[in-house]
Amino acid sequence: CGIVGYVGSRPALDVVVEGLARLEYRGYDSAGVALLAEDATLVTAKRAGKLVNLREALAEEPPPAGTLGMGHTRWATHGAPNDRNAHPHTDCTGSVAVVHNGIIENFAALRSELEELGHKLVSETDTECVAHLLEDELKSGGNLADAMRRVCRRLEGAFTLVAVHTGDPDLVVGARRNSPLVVGVGEGENFLASDVAAFIEHTRDAIELGQDQVVELRAGGVTVTDLGGAPATVREYHVDWDV
Ligand code: GLU
Repeated sequence: CGIVGYVGSRPALDVVVEGLARLEYRGYDSAGVALLAEDATLVTAKRAGKLVNLREALAEEPPPAGTLGMGHTRWATHGAPNDRNAHPHTDCTGSVAVVHNGIIENFAALRSELEELGHKLVSETDTECVAHLLEDELKSGGNLADAMRRVCRRLEGAFTLVAVHTGDPDLVVGARRNSPLVVGVGEGENFLASDVAAFIEHTRDAIELGQDQVVELRAGGVTVTDLGGAPATVREYHVDWDV
């Protein structure tokens, strides 16, 4: 339902949780975050229910400091609204995390294929297969964005996806088809969100991603390509209305 990504120099957790709070008006049943800590370990926390439940979990077990992260508020379509089905979802090794808005229509076939390859999936969501597909694609070489482009070519349906990977500790990757994803361009920091409301207090310079585009977000810059890896044409604009 709601997605926020951040990379820069501030504590990512604060930026991401505040961004999720700004998307609360859309309605949701669960919330979660993933952070890449300074030692490049991946930490996730997720809870069914309102954002306050996630905030309490984070207060009980504060994650290590990190300046790269992402968050999600879920509106369940596949699998009950519980802690396990909340996003982010991770791969078998715990090195990739993904959040998703929309529906992966061919998830059942992808899931069976992954299980035959030995992947253990732990949720009932359509989303989790994406984390495992990224895990496999990363083994074939390239960075997380290369893996995302290859995975998106196999997905059917509507999706906004945002992912992080311990092997690419300076990078947040996003992708979209039939579901919105907007970049917020800052100075020495950049944002990703399903809705500009999530980052409007930090920057009003935005880039709207087009259909079947993948964005590589780093503190120092933003690169957008199509699913073949070719540079993509995007719409840059200034948000001059109040949200
Ligand atoms: N289909 C996904 C799920 O049920 C994502 C739902 C959403 O857009 O929040 O977990």
